[in-house]
Amino acid sequence: MAKKKALHRRIIHRFHKRPLWQKITIASVIGVVLAFLGYSVFTYKTSTQETEGFFTCNKEVTVCEISQHIHANLDLTVCGKEIKLEKEEGNTTTAQHTHKEENRLHWHSRLPADPKTRLPLDTTPLTLVSTLSDLGIAFPPNCPTNRNPKTSVSVNGLPQSSGLQYVWKDGDQIVVEYN
Ligand SMILES: [Zn+2]
Ligand SMILES: [Zn+2]
Repeated sequence: MAKKKALHRRIIHRFHKRPLWQKITIASVIGVVLAFLGYSVFTYKTSTQETEGFFTCNKEVTVCEISQHIHANLDLTVCGKEIKLEKEEGNTTTAQHTHKEENRLHWHSRLPADPKTRLPLDTTPLTLVSTLSDLGIAFPPNCPTNRNPKTSVSVNGLPQSSGLQYVWKDGDQIVVEYN
């Protein structure tokens, strides 16, 4: 304990002996580092809260809502052609939509949720079927080289048997092919 105190005093003492400009430089470097650390913790906290969702209920806890801000990436190929999602497409308050980034899906809205499980009662708004309709994308009945095209969906590298009924989650890398 005494040793620790002595070391502490020595550091303080060394600091006091430094010229003023050095003191100011050291103090401002420490200030910038602390500000940056504080900011990172703050943004990390808000972003995890947003993706997990804000859960609110009425007083009787019979009617609840979950409000989330989540994102996913969607690569879409239709009849062998890569389709880029339009930017700033879709209703930003009620539906899946895009902003400025290429092929990036956004969702920031509320859904009625189960008071016990805290999960949305109806996940239809977050299916890939909804993605396509929210963004105004429709597959043609057939492709020039294939009269009977099939839809295949993979998420984070894994094929999904639910196909376009897949309910996407924050951070998903989605690949949809209609060939
Ligand atoms: Zn948005
Ligand atoms: Zn967003």
